Amino acid sequence: MAYTLPDLGFAFDALEPHIDAQTMEIHHDKHHQAYVGKVNDALEGVDVGEKSIEAVLADLSIVPAEKKQAVINNGGGHANHTLFWRILAPGGASEPSGELAQAIEQAFGNVDTLKSKIENAGVTRFGSGWAWLTSDGDSLSVSSSANQDSPIMDGKCPILGIDVWEHAYYLKYQNRRPDYLKAIWNVINWDAVAENYAASNK
Ligand code: MN
Repeated sequence: MAYTLPDLGFAFDALEPHIDAQTMEIHHDKHHQAYVGKVNDALEGVDVGEKSIEAVLADLSIVPAEKKQAVINNGGGHANHTLFWRILAPGGASEPSGELAQAIEQAFGNVDTLKSKIENAGVTRFGSGWAWLTSDGDSLSVSSSANQDSPIMDGKCPILGIDVWEHAYYLKYQNRRPDYLKAIWNVINWDAVAENYAASNK
């Protein structure tokens, strides 16, 4: 099964001024495309059937040992970016509602506390990685991971992920990762996060 680059779903400049068009174009067309190409290379000759990349990451025992790290890096990169594009929205933020809002209140007290925990997870992730809001079926938690490691490998379901690799923000924010993390809330699509949460409870 060969994986393919998903469409972004909106124009490169749709997230301006919070995320600039050039960053979005390079990030999607070059970085994400490279992860897709490399995970396909790594899985050449490996029978994964019709498994999604998320299903492969959830069960890496099907991947030969010598290919496992390449699948973690590039399959993780493919899965993480696919999630990332889906939870970004042109046209500004809504707020969490419904069951997701209730779960956030239960786990963190309120949305602002959740946001500051995610920002802190992203700021304190040394080097490249991701800040996450994950669901384990029962409750929500905030974490970060290095490189392209996916929470799926730990049995958790990521419902919101923020890329803190420099390629995600350097053209506009340079060394100011905290500013990028504050600005990104303006373009988070909470409806998509709620859909991810609903799916994680099935
Ligand atoms: Mn990235």
